Formats: sequence, C-alpha cells, structure tokens
Amino acid sequence: MDLSTRAQLRKAIAARGSLQRELHAQARRARLAAVGDAVYFRGIIECSNICEKNCLYCGIRRGNRAVRRYRMSLEEVAACVAFIHKARYGSVVLQAGELTFPDAKEYFLAIVRSIRERFPEMGITLSLGEQDQPFLRELKEAGAHRYLLRIETSVPRLYRRLHPANHSLARRKKCLRDLRGLGYQVGCGNMIGLPGQTLDDMVDDLLFFRDGDFDMFGLGPYVIHRDTPLATPRTVAWWEERREEIFQRTLNVIALLRILMPTCNIAAATALDVFHKDGREQALRAGANVLMPSVTPSAYRHAYLLYQRKPCLDGDAERCGRCIVRKAERANLRPALGVQGTSLHFLHRTHG
Ligand code: SAH
Ligand code: SF4
Repeated sequence: MDLSTRAQLRKAIAARGSLQRELHAQARRARLAAVGDAVYFRGIIECSNICEKNCLYCGIRRGNRAVRRYRMSLEEVAACVAFIHKARYGSVVLQAGELTFPDAKEYFLAIVRSIRERFPEMGITLSLGEQDQPFLRELKEAGAHRYLLRIETSVPRLYRRLHPANHSLARRKKCLRDLRGLGYQVGCGNMIGLPGQTLDDMVDDLLFFRDGDFDMFGLGPYVIHRDTPLATPRTVAWWEERREEIFQRTLNVIALLRILMPTCNIAAATALDVFHKDGREQALRAGANVLMPSVTPSAYRHAYLLYQRKPCLDGDAERCGRCIVRKAERANLRPALGVQGTSLHFLHRTHG
C-alpha cells in the first residue's frame, strides 16, 4: 500500500474491510522483518494519582473532587518491583499524575534509586508528565533510561480545546526535546477519537511522530470519563455512537506507525480492551510488540481511573501475569520474558 501522501494516510486511518486487512498484513510483515515476533512486557506501577494538572479529558485531573487520592509507600512500590522481577517482565513503568514539588521529586528519585540498586538489569521507564530538564537529568543519573510522554495531540487548535489555558503544547514539546538531549529512549503517543479531532489531525500526529524520530509509542483510544468537563451530554452521545470507529482507527494508526517506523517499540494500550475484550490482541496483530500489564495493587487500581470502564480492576498481579502472556500467544507471537526489550530504533540511532 502506497502511503506517501496525506490523502493516502487519511484513507488508511479510516480503512475498513479488505483495505484494512491489507494494511494490517503489511504492518505484520514490517514487524517480522524489522523486530521479529517477540512481545516485550513492562509491569506498570501507578504509584500516585495526585496530579497538579487539569487536562479536560482525564479522570484524575486536579479538579475531580470525587477521586480518593493516594501515594503508594516506598515499601508498597518495592513489593510491586519484586513481583515484576519474579514474573520476568524485564522492565518497569513508573506512572503517576504530574507532580513537580520538591517532596514529590524526592519520592520519585528514591524509587528509581532503589530499583536500580536492587535490580541492575531491569529496564526503568518513567511516565511522570512534564518535568524540568535538571530533574530529568537527576532521574537519568539515578538509573532511569526510558520516558513516555504522549503529546496527546500535536494540533494546537485541539490541544487548546482539551486543556486549560495554563497548559502548554510548546512546553510539552520542549520536554520531549530535553529527554532526547539527555539520552533517554523517548516514547510518544496520542489519543484517537477525541471530540473535534479530524482524520487530518491524526495525519498531523503521525507526521509529528515520524519527524520526532521517537523510539517508542504508546497511543490509545480516547475513553470518555463521566466526571470530566469533556463529558457533556453531547460528547457522551457522540462518543458512544463512534465507539467502533475509534477502536478501528486506533488499530490502523498502530499499523501505520509500524510501517512508517518499523524498528520502534509500540505498545498495545490497555484502553483498547474497553472496546473489545481481545482489544490488545488485535493491536498485536496490527503491529504492536509491547504489553504493559498492571502490577498496581487492586486497592489502588480503583482510584487510578484515567478513563472509565478500565479493564482488570479486580485482577491481582499474578492473575494479570498469566492472562497477559496468553494474549501474546493468541496473537501468534513469542512472549519474550526476562529481557529488557530495548527499542531497536534507539539502538540504531545511538550506535549507528
Ligand atoms: N500524568 C502523566 C502520566 C499519566 S496520564 C501524563 O499526563 O503524561 C497517562 C496518559 O493517560 C495520558 O498521556 C493520556 O493520553 C491518557 N489518558 C488520560 N485520560 C484519558 C482518557 N479519558 N482516555 C484515554 N486515555 C486517557
Ligand atoms: Fe494529570 Fe496526566 Fe491526567 Fe493530565 S493526563 S490530568 S497530567 S494524570
């Protein structure tokens, strides 16, 4: 399939039927040729749902008073990390609301230091929102080496519509540049199916990803959350009507990324399982090669609802572990346990 023009990319994002089958088959071929049949695992610890920001789509935004706020103790985090090691996931993702005050910075640093000390071989990915360059440097020196920061949307008009005026697309872009400058493996991504988002906006995101030369991607569908300003009766009705379209377009964007950037790591987002119970498997079949099972204790999972209808809320880490390996096998791929699974794109750009 030729994908050299904007019109072709638009058509591919909206593809259904035989065109969509062809797109996904092309993505599978690209994946096999570039990165093989391995699926890598990252255990995700959602260590705090306290957030300074107020993104209009997000369930744990500062303004949502209905959320019971928590911060896991260092001991609780350490127990999750020990589980990740035992389950041989190879890598941990530490995710939280965006917190930038000194006490929070110390907390994140203490976690990274202790993981690095106890498990020198474990991959450490951070997903802590926008942080300043000196702090990102400290985290890197403490042992973190990967960072996920979705751009959410690269389109200024849409970014403004989805965020309060004091949030800044330029600042988010600067943070992505800082991460790259510091030598991190950098992950980006967006949401698909945002109110007001057009096919052209999604093409802009794809080109932003390609031009940004990122190493990893974690993109997913937008899932409406009742207790957010974005969930007006109109958008709720709009979203419900478009559920299947949002799901299919997310798969297609994953497939396109695999074709455009074949050596990158691409995650199958958990939010896809909101739409179909084999949503993540379908993403693996469309070109994704990373799964991120939650290892957050179930007591906290209920309070970390970025979106509603989140799957696996009552699962424990053991059960999620068995289920997640089966997902890879059902997609006819090879669960690659016990390895970090570094992005080949990163290795190529840093080691030539
Ligand atoms: N605070 C950090 C990390 C946690 S949020 C940050 O914002 O980067 C992680 C991701 O959750 C965000 O990047 C966003 O893309 C996603 N998210 C938030 N609300 C969502 C929703 N309603 N539907 C789908 N994804 C959502
Ligand atoms: Fe906070 Fe991240 Fe949610 Fe925005 S998306 S409100 S930064 S947790």
